Amino acid sequence: TTDPPPAIAVQALRKRFGATAALDGMSFDVAAGKVTGFVGPNGAGKSTTMRVILGLDTPDEGRALIGGVPYSKLRRPLGHIGALLDAAALQPGRSARNHLLWLAHSQGLGAKRVDEVVAASGLASAIKRKAGGYSLGMRQRLGIAAAMLGDPPVVMLDEPFNGLDPEGIFWIRGYLKALAAEGRAVLVSSHLMSELEGCADHLVVVGRGRVIADTGVAELIARSSGGRVVLRTGARA
Ligand code: ADP
Ligand code: MG
Repeated sequence: TTDPPPAIAVQALRKRFGATAALDGMSFDVAAGKVTGFVGPNGAGKSTTMRVILGLDTPDEGRALIGGVPYSKLRRPLGHIGALLDAAALQPGRSARNHLLWLAHSQGLGAKRVDEVVAASGLASAIKRKAGGYSLGMRQRLGIAAAMLGDPPVVMLDEPFNGLDPEGIFWIRGYLKALAAEGRAVLVSSHLMSELEGCADHLVVVGRGRVIADTGVAELIARSSGGRVVLRTGARA
């Protein structure tokens, strides 16, 4: 028997933008049932990797697979992977609920599914308000609700904590942990390790377009000594 393919497999991606090597051999797997933190400084290649996974950018070399299949070959893409790339693009004049209904309709889903994702989003009391009046934290929740419409087993969020207050950060952490507890694979990026604390089970640390550490958080803590965490990065200059 062969093992099932990882939820996401990123395999030796290379991507140049002019003189910039955005991705320089980026490789890692994302497992189901865990929150994987994708952490590294601005410019490290996190967003480009996520765009490649979603087929929005084409790599020069390498490939990305979702459950063993490239995004372009998924039969019902939004039923496989839900993504929040930027604060959700909203039609400011529509109510948040109508925004979700419109997205649900485009996926062949009904009002019942909208009500489910709204209940999980904590936005129920504000869902009839115009999305244009939403705070950044509420827009992020709405974007996450939209990503979850198709009930995807794989969820990917790019910098969802950006600009949020502590309550918003706390809420998203708890929500992502709950998604992983349901058996979903969750990949969440941040340029700040502190935002992923208390939420990530696994960390993929990146810099300059490649992985510099790929480790379980429990293993990382076990390896740390005297309160100092030492990332084993191999013999790289
Ligand atoms: P991160 O999300 O980790 O901050 P990015 O993937 O956004 O990193 O960017 C990686 C590198 O690629 C950066 O140097 C960035 O400036 C460059 N880059 C990303 N997208 C483009 C683009 N469309 N055109 C030119 N350069 C880009
Ligand atoms: Mg980014």
